[in-house]
Amino acid sequence: ACDHLAALLKGFGLAASTPLSNWIDGRLVAGEGEEITLINPATGEALVSYRDAGAGLIERATQAAVRGQREWVTLTASERGRRMNAALRGLEGHEEALAQLESVVAGKPIRDCRAEVGKVREMFEYYAGWCDKQHGEVIPVPTSHLNYVHHVPYGVVGQITPWNAPMFTCAWQLAPAIAAGNAAVLKPSELTPFTSVVIAKLLEEGGKGVSQGLPKGLINIVNGLGKTTGAALTDHPTISKLVFVGSPQSGRMIAEAGARRLVPSVLELGGKSANIVFADAKLDEAVAGAQAAIFAAAGQSCVAGSRLLIERSVFEQVTTRLARAAEQIAVGLPSDEATRMGPLQNRRQFEQVTRMIEAAEAAGARVLTGGKRPEGLPDEAHGYFIAPTVLVDVTPEMEIAQQEVFGPVLVAMAFDDEAQAIQLANETRFGLAGAVWSQDVARAHRVAGQLRAGTVWINSYKAISVMSPFGGFGDSGFGRSSGLDGLREYTVPQSVWVET
Ligand code: NAD
Repeated sequence: ACDHLAALLKGFGLAASTPLSNWIDGRLVAGEGEEITLINPATGEALVSYRDAGAGLIERATQAAVRGQREWVTLTASERGRRMNAALRGLEGHEEALAQLESVVAGKPIRDCRAEVGKVREMFEYYAGWCDKQHGEVIPVPTSHLNYVHHVPYGVVGQITPWNAPMFTCAWQLAPAIAAGNAAVLKPSELTPFTSVVIAKLLEEGGKGVSQGLPKGLINIVNGLGKTTGAALTDHPTISKLVFVGSPQSGRMIAEAGARRLVPSVLELGGKSANIVFADAKLDEAVAGAQAAIFAAAGQSCVAGSRLLIERSVFEQVTTRLARAAEQIAVGLPSDEATRMGPLQNRRQFEQVTRMIEAAEAAGARVLTGGKRPEGLPDEAHGYFIAPTVLVDVTPEMEIAQQEVFGPVLVAMAFDDEAQAIQLANETRFGLAGAVWSQDVARAHRVAGQLRAGTVWINSYKAISVMSPFGGFGDSGFGRSSGLDGLREYTVPQSVWVET
């Protein structure tokens, strides 16, 4: 895998004595700080080392972004849209290598990574379409003025993303930021640095081949640790909006840093989403949905359906079927085409998940299936594998029922009626997503409306689109991404009064 990664980095032009881990002002640049070593999540072996960017490169990136943004806003809105679409040609022919790069470093099944590359394209196409549709409005003010309101960009925005879906979160935030007329400085997770750099580079190169492309400095990717490079970004005086995707702990630090400078933030944080199964649901579909809800991406998904709430009369049946289904999931090396679930991404995550399962058992929970390393893995799979796990005998106050595990661990709890289901579902500090499974349409809507969650699915789980707003309540954060709401996070309404 080490050689494989070296070949991929070389293919994208990132290979050097110190990998070129940043994209600043239209150029690949090596970091200058502390060495950061990436570990292969599947084998536990060292993959490659690169250097933390640090405050110096954040300074360069923000200066480049100011210039890039100035150039970008001189273009007409339709020209910006055309250039965003043209930039996408840069990805053509590189999709498979990008997917491979993501798979090796993030430890995600190659199938999932290919799908993620498709999402990158989808998000840029969607927001390119918004460029020339951001109409303002005229307000019939009670004076002789003409008053109009239009949406102006912030200028340079700072973005920070996590390791679980690096390409997705990168495109998810870059596309609306530039469609709204901003330049961006984005810091990916130090654990998954490269794919964002490659995407930025390919987009910039792609546009140039067609007409004029994205201006240099419009998109800058700077890699390093949260406490060094991340903090330098959030504290930088040029940044006038912060968008953060990650854990509630770090999110609080970002919001505090923003507050010190009176810079607003969007926080897309974690979840402990409830998946509510009523006895009148189509149970085959509910079981399949519940399985995908928690075990896709090995549970390392912010919207993971990690709490399954089941009406008592079908509790036994649903949990038994779910445990059998969990045992059928093909866990294996990310590079294997047959793999449906890979390892956890890093040691810290692996240790956290292991500790939380042990603590749950100590508190009285029972492992119905999983809870340990899966059997039958290939010899080289020494990495961070945990089998799909289902826990029962869980009570709502246990840590495992309250805190995000961010691993393939499902807790199942029974309820007796609709009111109790809603109460249990809302009994956490999180509020990202939830689902209701029932054939009673009126009840499904009634329950959905009472869930404190930014996204609710009915007889489905994880349907998601760049067109529909996404975000949380409570510890899941605030602000919205995707759709028009996501675009509006990147602009400020300006009210202009003209004496007539
Ligand atoms: P994390 O909070 O540890 O790290 C996220 C990012 O923040 C990384 O780039 C990190 O370097 C940076 N960071 C950390 N401390 C910082 C600081 N003081 N200043 C600036 N930057 C700092 O999260 P993670 O472990 O990478 O990701 C997992 C978490 O992300 C989970 O909680 C998951 O639910 C959440 N997540 C949420 C969404 C969503 O859309 N709501 C999507 C994906 C992941």
